[in-house]
Amino acid sequence: MVSLFADWHTHTRFSHGKGSILDNVGMARKRGLSSIAITDHGPRNILVGSSEKKLLQLRELVDRYNELYDDIEILAGVEANVVDLDGNLDVSPYVLARLDIVLVGLHKWVMPGDLYTAIHFHLPNSLGIDYARLRRLNTEAITNAVKRYEVDIVTHPGLHINIDTRELARVCKERDTLLEINASHGYLTLEYIKIAREEGARFVINSDAHRPQDVGSLGAGIALASEAGLTVGEIANAKED
Ligand SMILES: [Zn+2]
Ligand SMILES: [Zn+2]
Repeated sequence: MVSLFADWHTHTRFSHGKGSILDNVGMARKRGLSSIAITDHGPRNILVGSSEKKLLQLRELVDRYNELYDDIEILAGVEANVVDLDGNLDVSPYVLARLDIVLVGLHKWVMPGDLYTAIHFHLPNSLGIDYARLRRLNTEAITNAVKRYEVDIVTHPGLHINIDTRELARVCKERDTLLEINASHGYLTLEYIKIAREEGARFVINSDAHRPQDVGSLGAGIALASEAGLTVGEIANAKED
């Protein structure tokens, strides 16, 4: 049986989460975690994104809060967006370099980097239209981001936005990037976990909590992982019970 020591994908009021950093940290400690990441949405999530200025404030607060506790490590991070097919992110290298952990996810309703991308990538995804060429472009965008940046985790692969999981898994293995099993959204699905595993990719199980009470609530992810037969060594935030 697998147990987890970290939740590396949680949101606060820095984007559209409900709680503060300390609320999330408090719940993580209560659940016995020894590591938590605060990973609010990147600037280009329409209406909910966190500006770069706010991300730097988050960085400062996390530094201060790390002084308060010796039983938990708090990481300052972001869940960045892909703004074009070249895989550029909505967070500058300057800010990325100041964060401890970089998550990247494909989301609906992201401000596009250019008109071509708006028409061929962001708009059809936001409207939930799905066709073979779009799947190709989605895969290109996310794999290019993983190749271009030091990405720690790709969040909820396949959620709302269709991608070729096998190809993403190949690139993630090569780049040492983790694929997320998201306990809130059920992505990766069981089928996708099996495909990614065949490619030798590694995983992480996160809550994607948007409310403090959901931090460390990872049961659904653990269930998926054990159904897929994943071992402790394949899950970056797992330890032997
Ligand atoms: Zn997300
Ligand atoms: Zn998230």
